[in-house]
Amino acid sequence: MKSDNCTQCGICTKHCVFLSKYNINIGDTEKLYSLAYHCFLCGTCTRVCPQGIDGRTIILNMRRKRVIENGGKPDESGYGFLRFEKERYIFRNARHINSHIRSDAVLFPGCNFLSYYPKTLKVLFESLNEKKPMGILYDCCGKPIDDLGEKAKADAIAYRLNVTLNAAGVKEIVMVCPNCISFLKDKLDAKIVSVYAKLKELGPEDGIVNSEVNEFEDGEINIFPPCPDRRSKELLSDISEFLPKQYRTVDEVQCCGFGGCAGIKEPGLAKALPNSIKEKCGSKVYTYCATCSGSLKTAGCKEVWHVLTKILKTNEEPDVRHSLLNRLSGILK
Ligand code: SF4
Ligand code: SF4
Repeated sequence: MKSDNCTQCGICTKHCVFLSKYNINIGDTEKLYSLAYHCFLCGTCTRVCPQGIDGRTIILNMRRKRVIENGGKPDESGYGFLRFEKERYIFRNARHINSHIRSDAVLFPGCNFLSYYPKTLKVLFESLNEKKPMGILYDCCGKPIDDLGEKAKADAIAYRLNVTLNAAGVKEIVMVCPNCISFLKDKLDAKIVSVYAKLKELGPEDGIVNSEVNEFEDGEINIFPPCPDRRSKELLSDISEFLPKQYRTVDEVQCCGFGGCAGIKEPGLAKALPNSIKEKCGSKVYTYCATCSGSLKTAGCKEVWHVLTKILKTNEEPDVRHSLLNRLSGILK
């Protein structure tokens, strides 16, 4: 739906730090067009609009239009390294797609889980392989490039992934990152399965993971759901099997501050958002998105735990200091 039906009620503005800062709403298309790269693409405006207006898609389409008008790349500065890294994914490694023996399944950790949780990824891969042989593919899903408005390039990344997976005979791709899952769900020929559904399928009786003896503490825990799972909670429902009975989802804060590559344009807001999560959760927060974990850790959250580190009992903290080096380690494997 276009913004033509906007009644200027201002509900989206009330729920969004970016719209509030500029005192605009999704119906203010002219101003929004020039500020399109300041939006976190979190989808909160879409969720709250009583007219059913999809603000996130409207702004993403504005970015796409600007890219087309600018000859195929963003007309904003500051995205040089991101585009260089992600477009062909300079840390890509497909050598182990059929790791041990030819298998029809592959683990796809995405960019940021390896960046922040290299030890947990190793444990995860070994644990899965004990029960079901599978390879591993280090690649980027293309979402950051799509978020920048470069749709044709993001489509080319999905095409490249399909060619690689099909050539290796992969029928099932086990994904860790909620952004990869949400972004690639309609784009790949192989079936996408969340790592939590896979762990559930292969355990606990088979020994990979036992929800009775994972590392979660008793009592209520706070979980911050990432933007792509905020509305449907589909991924969270896969995870809930492993969680303590009592948990609270922190839905009030719109984004961890990393969304939409907006932090470059709005560094103040990008810093304030994880601070708001900290205020709501106290010193301890659980996530199921490595990017959210990294953002919270960088903001000074003392205890931020990715649920996989508790399920697999690695208790690894997000390694924000060596994220680039960790990512680099993927191509050396
Ligand atoms: S919530 Fe919807 S109708 Fe209200 S100002 Fe925002 S876009 Fe317009
Ligand atoms: S997508 Fe998020 S940051 Fe962008 S306008 Fe909507 S609520 Fe605000």
